[in-house]
Amino acid sequence: MTTTPPPGSAASSGFPAPAAEPPPPAVASASPRSADRPLIGSLSPSRAADFVNCPLRYRFRVVDRLPEPPSEAASRGTVVHSVLENLFDLPPAGRTLEAARTLVEPAWQALREREPAVEALFDGPDALAAWLDSARELLAGYFALEDPARLAPSARELYVEHVLDSGLRLRGYVDRLDEASTAQGLALRVVDYKTGRSPGPAFEASAMFQMRFYALLLWRIRGVIPRELRLYYLGDRTWLRAAPDEADLRATERRIEALWAAIDRAHRTGDWRATPNRLCSWCHHQALCPAFGGTPPPLPQQAPAVPLDKAAPTVCEAEG
Ligand code: SF4
Repeated sequence: MTTTPPPGSAASSGFPAPAAEPPPPAVASASPRSADRPLIGSLSPSRAADFVNCPLRYRFRVVDRLPEPPSEAASRGTVVHSVLENLFDLPPAGRTLEAARTLVEPAWQALREREPAVEALFDGPDALAAWLDSARELLAGYFALEDPARLAPSARELYVEHVLDSGLRLRGYVDRLDEASTAQGLALRVVDYKTGRSPGPAFEASAMFQMRFYALLLWRIRGVIPRELRLYYLGDRTWLRAAPDEADLRATERRIEALWAAIDRAHRTGDWRATPNRLCSWCHHQALCPAFGGTPPPLPQQAPAVPLDKAAPTVCEAEG
């Protein structure tokens, strides 16, 4: 499943090289029918992954809404995503690695203004400079995987939302959407960047679940099953891809509904079980976790009947 594409592989897969006039950004929204349904809950791929990995972590994030301090890894992910979004504002010939590297500093300044707490991550100018260099190194990883001069994305950081027939609202941000008109009709490609390393064969299926989640959303919103899902791992310069079909996406929808039923059950019973896993070292709440000798706080009195995961999904998380 993991492979390394040649740079500029966009053209070979039928997606367009940049046109003189790039297409306008795609707009995604809930289907009109969703307004008629009572909302039973809301779920993003990130929070779904939280619950799968550890229900207690989901509780801390969605039900307790415990604050999480910034981390170097998550902040680097935010900066790299911002650069990869802004890179496509440049004319195709200008989308070079050098140009991307120069976008790192402004992206960092923008993050500082939005979240002043990130400055405390660094002891001094040398630590900050080394961290900025590590972000530039990840961008070099991106350029090893594809040539952005050959691409004309139809959308970047695209918010997508749809309410299933059950009343469960699915939502998330797609890092990049590519579109092409082909003899078989409209072709969509969903691209997501991870600033960590690839997960290894044992975790590839769960990594692709996020992409199928987005594919399901786009299918429901646009009526087109994305032809390709690409997950780029800039940390080790590899990628995963999948070509979903209708059966895949129907299975994804069933899995999401089953997951939501489990979340609802945990909420009703209060059984948010700590499940130690490979991501515990990224978890900010070890001090409150029974698996690490801690005690969770009492559940909030004002918690809604069902947690709605109201917070906008983060673009990139430490584990991503
Ligand atoms: S430390 Fe590990 S087991 Fe405990 S809440 Fe966090 S992810 Fe779950």
